[in-house]
Amino acid sequence: MKVLITGGAGFIGSHLVEALLARGDTVFLLDNLSTGSIDNIEPMKGRPRFHYAIDSVMNEPVTAELVDRADVVVHLAAAVGVRLIVESPVNTIETNVHGTEMVLKLANKKKKKVLLASTSEVYGKSDQVPFKEDADLVLGPTSKGRWSYACSKAIDEFLALAYFKEKRLPVVIFRLFNTVGPRQTGRYGMVIPNFVKQALMGHPITVFGDGQQSRCFTYISDVVGVLLKLADQEAAVGQVLNIGNDREEVGILDLARRVKAKTGSRSEIVMVPYDQAYEEGFEDMPRRVPDLGRIRALTGYEPQVHLDEILDRVIEYFTSDRARV
Ligand code: UDP
Repeated sequence: MKVLITGGAGFIGSHLVEALLARGDTVFLLDNLSTGSIDNIEPMKGRPRFHYAIDSVMNEPVTAELVDRADVVVHLAAAVGVRLIVESPVNTIETNVHGTEMVLKLANKKKKKVLLASTSEVYGKSDQVPFKEDADLVLGPTSKGRWSYACSKAIDEFLALAYFKEKRLPVVIFRLFNTVGPRQTGRYGMVIPNFVKQALMGHPITVFGDGQQSRCFTYISDVVGVLLKLADQEAAVGQVLNIGNDREEVGILDLARRVKAKTGSRSEIVMVPYDQAYEEGFEDMPRRVPDLGRIRALTGYEPQVHLDEILDRVIEYFTSDRARV
């Protein structure tokens, strides 16, 4: 199979590239390196079935050529991470909306299957936990920039489903729940790499808000494994699917304590009000737990790597090469 991965030099994209190459697929990668990194794809360079372009999905001729050469497009290119969203809202909205418009428009010309990355962020402040794909989305007001990320991804989902219904474009939408693993940097605010780096450096471990908000973390290999299945499967077309790990929901303060204990760090745990961590009036999602019924039924998906091991592996990633810290 020939697969185009937009955002292929990012954390998730680069792991997917590796997995596709390992099973003998041909990969075309498109990334503008805005949050991705050339280091992530260095080991793949020179491999016979690997082709890459450092460019934006907004460059229509380049993207059109790559879409034409692929059988399937995995559209991961997006502005990600709450910090980035709060700091660069214009770029977030434009990248997420126009990038997806471009990919869907070009894929539609030859009806190439598109796997569209979305996010559990779309469930917003909903208290209907665990989150089911058909549940209502509960977003805050437009004056609170955080919600622009969820809203931009919701528009992407609407557009993809519209292409499916109106033009029979085969699309699969997947909503990721806090994916973690090697190559994820703390640069864009993601909590586990952030806490691990802080603990290893002996810096304060910064818990935002009261630390009672909770998340479920998914290891990258579980995400990649199920994405490979979705790329192959006909039955997934036209569906919205959660991808996460429902085994353990952890409070953020509790998470900070676990990272501190596991690293043997002397860092103190400090509470940082949301206003200081992000911006005035910032609203967080109190809980975020996936309902995995749909993806289990469709693919037999079962997350394999759970929180304790996720933390061990991320700590190992940063300690094995101190330059990463
Ligand atoms: N968080 C934190 N300290 C940090 C980074 C994040 O307490 O240094 C919190 C953040 O406010 C959120 C949770 O950890 O409640 C997860 O944040 P992340 O950005 O990793 O993902 P999100 O679930 O917000 O998309």
